[in-house]
Amino acid sequence: MVTFVGAGSGAADLITVRGARLLGQADVIVYAGSLVNPELLQLAKPGCRVYDSARMTLEEVLDVMVPAARAGQAVVRLHTGDPSLYGAIREQMDALDAAGVAYEVVPGVSSFCGAAAALKAEYTLPDVSQTVIITRMAGRTPVPEREQLRSLAAHGSTMVLFLSSGLIPQVVEELLAGGAYTADTPAAIVYKATWPDEAVYRCTVGTLAETAERYRITRTALITVGGFLGGTYERSKLYDPGFATGYREASR
Ligand code: SAH
Repeated sequence: MVTFVGAGSGAADLITVRGARLLGQADVIVYAGSLVNPELLQLAKPGCRVYDSARMTLEEVLDVMVPAARAGQAVVRLHTGDPSLYGAIREQMDALDAAGVAYEVVPGVSSFCGAAAALKAEYTLPDVSQTVIITRMAGRTPVPEREQLRSLAAHGSTMVLFLSSGLIPQVVEELLAGGAYTADTPAAIVYKATWPDEAVYRCTVGTLAETAERYRITRTALITVGGFLGGTYERSKLYDPGFATGYREASR
């Protein structure tokens, strides 16, 4: 059995209880060394074989996982954040299917959740935005034409950009071309959310590029954009005294 485990966004104690238990039971661990906190490897039992996938191809990863799983060993494939976002797990799962190897997925705290915690922010504020767009700037990995950043930016929703902190001038150009955000729209760069060296840089769309340059942010950061970072919103209906829910009657 292979288990894909979300390691969480950084801090070692943000892994799930289930993920930690599986790490402790694993005979083989293949971890994404570029972003997974190495402290998590201390959970491995003595004799566990540990591989850093940052130095491996898909084929090499499979050459470790498939024979081990076939031999009845417990294999953990440890991915950063939550494996479902930019994790390249689909190609591994399809290869395991083809090889007849069973697998499961254990979710993790994605860095976009870690970033909201670092910002002490709520992405979905009444009257501001009820939608979070998670995307990236096209780089070496292309983005489908219909999802070009400028067209997503036309919604003016909350937006979280992964894998784009090396391309901020282009990001800003696209955000403004959408027509909904302006140079004054609040933005923030969250560097290494939930790691000990986490840093939050609040700015605006207009000052994103100079902020990234000043603090030398080129990687391991998320760019967040939208009115959720501003000061204006409506209070929620859910906790409004005049609003009845399945759990509470309206009091006025
Ligand atoms: N599956 C991961 C994302 C992997 S893609 C998740 O759910 O978080 C790698 C990108 O994620 C990085 O380029 C960066 O944009 C972002 N990232 C990962 N960890 C981060 C962190 N702790 N703080 C800020 N951004 C992070």
